[in-house]
Amino acid sequence: MLSFFSASPPRTAIMLAICGFLLNLYPLPLFANVQLILGNAAYVIAAVILGPRYAVAVALVCAAGLFLIWDTMHVFLLFPLEALVLALAKRRGVYSLYAGVGFWLLIGMPLFYLYGLTLTTLPTTHLPFIAVKQAINGLFYIGLGAVLLLMLPAQMQNTGSHTKAPVRFSDKLTYSFTLFISLALLVAALLFSEFFIARQQMLIKKNLQDNAVHLSQSTFDYLREHQTAIDQGALWLSMMGDEPEKQQDWLTQFNKGYPAFLTMLIANDRGNIVAASPAARMMDDAIQKGEYSVADRHYFQESFYNQKSFISPVFLGRGFGSDPIVAISAPVYGQGRSSHPSGILEGSLDLNRFVLIDRQNRHHSEQFLLLTDDSNRVIYASAPLNIPPLSEFASAKSGLEYRTSLQLINLHDLKNPSPEYIYAEELLPNRWRLLVLSPFAPLMQLAETQFLRTCILLIFSMVVSFYLARLISRMLTGSLETIANEFSNPSEQRLPLPADAPAEVQTLYQTLKASQRQLMSHQLELEEKVAIRTFELEKANQKLQALAERDALTGLYNRRHATAGFAPLQAMCERSGEAIAVVLLDLDFFKAINDNHGHLAGDECLRQMANLLAQNFKRDSDLVARYGGEEFLLILPMTNALNVEHHLNLFRERLAKHPVNNPSADEPIHMSVSVGAVVANASFSDSLEAWLKVADDNLYQAKAEGRNRVICTLINDEIPTPEAK
Ligand code: GH3
Ligand code: MG
Ligand code: MG
Repeated sequence: MLSFFSASPPRTAIMLAICGFLLNLYPLPLFANVQLILGNAAYVIAAVILGPRYAVAVALVCAAGLFLIWDTMHVFLLFPLEALVLALAKRRGVYSLYAGVGFWLLIGMPLFYLYGLTLTTLPTTHLPFIAVKQAINGLFYIGLGAVLLLMLPAQMQNTGSHTKAPVRFSDKLTYSFTLFISLALLVAALLFSEFFIARQQMLIKKNLQDNAVHLSQSTFDYLREHQTAIDQGALWLSMMGDEPEKQQDWLTQFNKGYPAFLTMLIANDRGNIVAASPAARMMDDAIQKGEYSVADRHYFQESFYNQKSFISPVFLGRGFGSDPIVAISAPVYGQGRSSHPSGILEGSLDLNRFVLIDRQNRHHSEQFLLLTDDSNRVIYASAPLNIPPLSEFASAKSGLEYRTSLQLINLHDLKNPSPEYIYAEELLPNRWRLLVLSPFAPLMQLAETQFLRTCILLIFSMVVSFYLARLISRMLTGSLETIANEFSNPSEQRLPLPADAPAEVQTLYQTLKASQRQLMSHQLELEEKVAIRTFELEKANQKLQALAERDALTGLYNRRHATAGFAPLQAMCERSGEAIAVVLLDLDFFKAINDNHGHLAGDECLRQMANLLAQNFKRDSDLVARYGGEEFLLILPMTNALNVEHHLNLFRERLAKHPVNNPSADEPIHMSVSVGAVVANASFSDSLEAWLKVADDNLYQAKAEGRNRVICTLINDEIPTPEAK
C-alpha cells in the first residue's frame, strides 16, 4: 500500500481526490445547519506530500463535492487557494497548522466575508459567524490532515518537497505537541458545545411541552368554570320564577361574581331580552318595546330548542367593542315545566382574559401563547406575536433540514428557510389548539456564541500549547545542543550543562565526557607510538640511503654517487668560473699484497687508504669515492690549480710512510699509490667521461713510469691563478 502511494504521485492524487470528494458529500452534521466537513483533509495531505499543482487539483475535486451540497461557487476559489498556500508554505518549511492559522486569519476569513457581503444575500449580522465557522472547520480538517501525515512514514512526507535544511527536533516536537493539543481541544470543544446545545434544546422542549399542557389545562378550566356557572345560574333561575325585576337583580349580582362575562342576558321563549347585565342595556328602545330578539342566534337555538348547555364558536362582540368572545348559554325552565324551556341564560365570555394566563406564564421566560379555535381562527395571540384576533391562522413548518429534535414553525415569513419559533402544541377537548412559542434566534445565537468561544479557546490554547511545547522541547533539546556544541569543539572552554537538564541528558553528558577522556588518552598513546615509529623509520631510511650511496668496506661514497654528484658541482663551478680537479688513484701491486698477506689484510689496507684520503681531502665540497677494487676517485671543486699536484704528492708520500698493521703477521704492510689527475676550468667539459679520460691516461702513464708517482695535466685555458683572483 505504501509503495503504491510513493510509487506514483498522480495515482496518490487521484486516490486523495476521490476520498476528499466522497467525504465532502457527507459532512458531519452539528446543531441546526452547522456542518463539519472532513474531506478537505485530502488536499492538506496532497499539499504536503505532492506539492502545489497536485494540491490545487485535489482541492478542486474536493470543492466539487461541496458544490453539490452547498451550491455556492465560492468553494472553487477559497479551497484551491488554501491548498496552494499550504503547499507553498510546506516548500518553505512552514508546518501546515501554522500555515492554516495564517491563511484563515489573513486570507480565508476576510475573503469569505467579502464574498458574503457582495455576492450573496446572507444577512450581514450573520456573516462574521459564518466566516468564523469556516475558519474553525478549516483548522479542523487541517489538523486532521496533519495528524494523518504524522502517521505516514517519514520518507513519504518528503515527496514533492524541496526543503533542504534538516528539520529541527525542537520545532518538530513543538509542532506535534501543538497539533495534538489543538485538535484534541477542538474536538472536545465541539463535542461539548454539541452536548450543551443538545441539553439546552431538551430543556426548551420540555419546558414548552410542560407549559403547553399546563396552559391548555387552565384555558379549558376557564371555559369549564364559566360554563358550569351558566349551568348553575340557569338552574337557579328555573327555581326562582318569572318575576322580571327579581331576575334583573339576580343577573346583576351574578355578573359581579363572574366579571369575565362582558355581558349577560336572560331571554324568554321568543328570544326577547327580559334581563341584561350591565343593566343599562335594558334602557335600549328596541329592548323596551320587546322588538329586540336573539331567537336567530346560534346560542339561543342550541339551548332553547336542543336544550343544551352550549359554548359558541368565537366571534367579535357586537356593540361591545371588538374583542373576541364566546357565548355560553343554557336553557332556563319555568316552574314545574321541566320538559320545555321558558328561555335561556347567556353570558359573553371575554377571551382577552387569556392575557392574565399569558402574563402568568411570561414571568419566567420568553414564551408566547397562541390559541386557535376548531375552525383554525386565532382566538388569542400574545401581543409580541402581532397577530390580530379571529384572523385565519397561517403557519409553516420550518427548519425541516435542520438537525434538531425541536418543532420549528414560521408565523410571519412563511417562505424563510430559517425558523422563527420553537413550539409545543396541545389540543383542548373542545378542539381548540394551544401553541406555546419561543423564538428560535436566541438558541441559534447561543450556538453561534458557543462556536465563537470555541474559536477563541482554540486560538488561545494553540498559543499556550505552542509556548509550553517550546519550553519543554527547549529544555530537552537545549541541553542536547549544549552537549553537541561542547563535544564538537573539545578544546574550547566548557559550558556547564543547564541545571534543569533532564536526568537522561545528564547521564548522557557524563558518559560522553568519560568516553571523550578515554579517547583522548588513546590518542596521546597513539601519537607517542607514531613518534617512536617515525624516528625508527627515519633512522632506517638514513641507513638505507647510506647503503645506497656509500661503499660498505671503506665508508666512502661509491662510484654511482660520485658520478651523479659531478654534474651539480661542475655547474656550480662553471657559474663562478672556478677550476675543478678530477683525480684517479690506484694502489700499486695490490694483487701482490692480497697474495702475500691475505684478503683480509688487503681489505684493511683499503680501509686505511680511505681514512687517509678522508683526512687529506676534507673540504665540504671535496668528493672522495671508492671507484672500484683498489681504485679511488677525487673530485675537488674550487681548487687551486697550481697547488693540486703538490697536494697529491704530499698525500702519496704520506701513504708511503703509513705502514698498515697486518693482523696475521708481525711486520707491517707498506703501500704506494699511482695518481692520474686533471685540473681545468669547470667549463672544460660537463661530461665526467672527458675528465676521467685525461685522468686515466695520466694514471696509466704513472704506472708505466714506475708507479708511486703523480702525473697531473693542467689544462691552462682560462684557469684562474690565485694571483688573478
Ligand atoms: P698495478 O696496479 O700496480 O699494475 O698492480 P696490481 O696488482 O694493483 O694490479 P691489478 O689492478 O691487476 O690488481 C688489482 C687487485 O686488487 C686484484 C684484486 O684481487 C684486488 N682487489 C680488488 N678489490 C679488492 C678488495 O676489495 N679487497 C682485496 N683484498 N683485494 C681486492
Ligand atoms: Mg687496479
Ligand atoms: Mg693496482
